[in-house]
Amino acid sequence: MKLHSGNLAWSHTNHPISAYPSLRQHLSCDCLIIGGGIGGALCAHLLADSHMDTVLIDKRTIASGSTLANTGLIQFSNDKTLTSMINTFGEKPAVRFYKMCQGAVGKLIRISQNLQQEARITPRNSLYLASSEADLSMLREEFTTLCRHHFPVEWWDRNMIAERFPFQKSGAIYSYCDGEGNPFAFVHGLIQAAAANGVSIFEQTEASGFKFLKDGVLCRAGDYTIRAKHVIFSAGYETQQFHKEKGAHLTSSFVMVTEPADHFDDWFERCLIWETARPYLYMRTTPDQRIMIGGLDEPLENDRLDEARHLHQGQVLLEKLHQLFPEKKHLQAAYAYGAVFGESRDGLPYIGPHPDYPHCYFLKGLGGNGAVYSMIAAEMITDVLTGKQRRDMDWFSLTRTSKPTPAVHRSNME
Ligand SMILES: Cc1cc2nc3c(=O)[nH]c(=O)nc-3n(C[C@H](O)[C@H](O)[C@H](O)COP(=O)(O)OP(=O)(O)OC[C@H]3O[C@@H](n4cnc5c(N)ncnc54)[C@H](O)[C@@H]3O)c2cc1C
Repeated sequence: MKLHSGNLAWSHTNHPISAYPSLRQHLSCDCLIIGGGIGGALCAHLLADSHMDTVLIDKRTIASGSTLANTGLIQFSNDKTLTSMINTFGEKPAVRFYKMCQGAVGKLIRISQNLQQEARITPRNSLYLASSEADLSMLREEFTTLCRHHFPVEWWDRNMIAERFPFQKSGAIYSYCDGEGNPFAFVHGLIQAAAANGVSIFEQTEASGFKFLKDGVLCRAGDYTIRAKHVIFSAGYETQQFHKEKGAHLTSSFVMVTEPADHFDDWFERCLIWETARPYLYMRTTPDQRIMIGGLDEPLENDRLDEARHLHQGQVLLEKLHQLFPEKKHLQAAYAYGAVFGESRDGLPYIGPHPDYPHCYFLKGLGGNGAVYSMIAAEMITDVLTGKQRRDMDWFSLTRTSKPTPAVHRSNME
């Protein structure tokens, strides 16, 4: 599957990256991780600490799947608001999930502090704008819900926004304790640390077949096999190819990155910005003084990414940015790309085992919060593999849509 197309910004940053060999021998291990994106890298990092004998393979190179397209906004709020989650799942489970996301943001920041400078995740606040007057009451309700459950948020009215930004919006939630990073550098940092800690990493090594044994899994990878007691499937949107519950709805999403700006005096605290419209526009600044703006999601053409569409959509994103920040009208696009983007229908990630795949765990960090979901998933899966009970994993079950009642999931979250 072609995951992105165009000129991707992160691969041009000056982060020193390591290359890894392809598999040249039969292997056996305690745990095989399939996929070297953010999900696989977090699992490798956590398993390295647990001293399990771990192997990670990627059919491309490290962090060159969807992680390369990821714009690096790390937020506890989700595409599906807390209010909406409460309506779907009930108060306790929904709040518990949002708290998990909040905890995961903190963990990502903490983990990154031990990595090289460029791989670190920087704390940032977020501005969640009402896209229109009509969205104001919904956003106000979300603010009240977040306050009731002690999330660190403020309500900003039209004047407060106008004092801090050059655009007019009728209201916004300003939230604290989010983060931003360079996902490409972060994943390379995690993998380098895992490799230094004993995890074997192989690039250009595709898992192409599986035999499920009584005591593990035999995975074919090119001319070789890897015999593993456990397998973690963290193959991003391509995980869909491995099991029949597709789960994800795939679209195209677009990103444009400007040339470096001379200042951000008109951008309060260089916060992350997003909005209530669906699909939403979102933007951030980068350490090398650029603006990254994304959105304009649209259906895939015949299930495939249109490889030239980013040229048009990048221009539209630039115009939208100029409308919001008129002082930045001189800034042109330096990078523009399109990428496949996946969402689950209920807004939750898929995490856990699948009845047809013994000894295997799946990690599918779908949605705009893929990094946060991957952190939650990596921790849950590695907990289970190292002998800790995680009954809450059932809430994210791959087969949840075929289960008779959501109460099954609720009970494990309460
Ligand atoms: C435009 C865009 C912007 C985004 N912005 C954000 C954001 O700001 N914040 C956020 O949290 N999330 C964001 N996301 C979502 C985020 O990018 C994804 O959720 C996340 O990168 C998924 O990571 P992953 O490790 O699951 O997948 P991937 O990064 O795709 O990694 C999977 C890896 O598996 C490998 N693989 C696949 N099949 C096989 C096989 N058979 N054998 C071996 N290897 C295999 C692939 O080569 C790939 O490297 C964004 C997504 C897009 C498209």
